[in-house]
Amino acid sequence: MSFGNLELGHVVGSGEYSDMKLVCQGCEFKVHKVVVCTQSPVLATAIHWVFQESRTGIINIENFEPSTVSRMVEFLYTGDYGDPLFPHTEGFAAFLRSSNYLINPSIASFPDEIKKPTSDDITASGMMLQHVQINAIADYYNIERLSELSRSKFQQACQSTWDTQSFIDATSGALGLSGDGALHEVIATEAAKNIHTLLEIDHFADLIGEFGTRVLRNCIKKAEADQHRVFQLRFDLEQEHSKRQAAEARADRIIENIGRCVQTMRERGFCRNHSCMAEYQCYIERRGQSFEPLYTLRCAKCRCKN
Ligand SMILES: [Zn+2]
Repeated sequence: MSFGNLELGHVVGSGEYSDMKLVCQGCEFKVHKVVVCTQSPVLATAIHWVFQESRTGIINIENFEPSTVSRMVEFLYTGDYGDPLFPHTEGFAAFLRSSNYLINPSIASFPDEIKKPTSDDITASGMMLQHVQINAIADYYNIERLSELSRSKFQQACQSTWDTQSFIDATSGALGLSGDGALHEVIATEAAKNIHTLLEIDHFADLIGEFGTRVLRNCIKKAEADQHRVFQLRFDLEQEHSKRQAAEARADRIIENIGRCVQTMRERGFCRNHSCMAEYQCYIERRGQSFEPLYTLRCAKCRCKN
């Protein structure tokens, strides 16, 4: 089996070459220091002390669920952790089986028979919270790339399947579980996009406190007033622009009109009226509107338009 650049079949197939174990609620992950410690300085330090003290090579993970640990292990070996509401990729599930991932019979159905998610399971709630839990374990063990990936997946989950209550649950989880400031920033950004809906939910108000809620409501009012003002200014600007364009076009027409008059005066020797044919002397007649006069040359003798 192959994951990305790694041939896990050779590397971890039976766990025979494993030199380190992660144990979580009875689940045992036979892993390799070269894979784990190069990506997690915290686990590297931990295994160093474990060896110094007991030479067991076992690290107990107490603060997280086995499902979260399995996703972390999957990431350490493959660079991804798939979709946490769905089973591991077949190849990785096989790896988990072959490395005696499960030794606790009480949860023996996992991962061999990882339950297929029902439509109820595949909710934004579950999805967002799972990414938060993975982000928390990444933050705890300082696995930077996993922190980044879980943040990115969390954001995608928010944007593809927004659900207000689920987001609040995930936010609550993130603030309690993960110290990753960058995740908190992602959450704040997504919250700002949906702030109107969020403020209607009491649980969200509980998260940010009553004073925070008041400040936010006032920020929203101000932002709306500013936005209204911007729309008004933009409308006024467009009106002014149209007026200016019309004035310029008018000026062009007047100049063209005067130009034609001057040209006629230069070229014409006699009145164009055949019954007049006087030597050409003319006057300018002004017609049109006050804002756009129309000048016409007329023969001084017969008043014919020239
Ligand atoms: Zn004439």
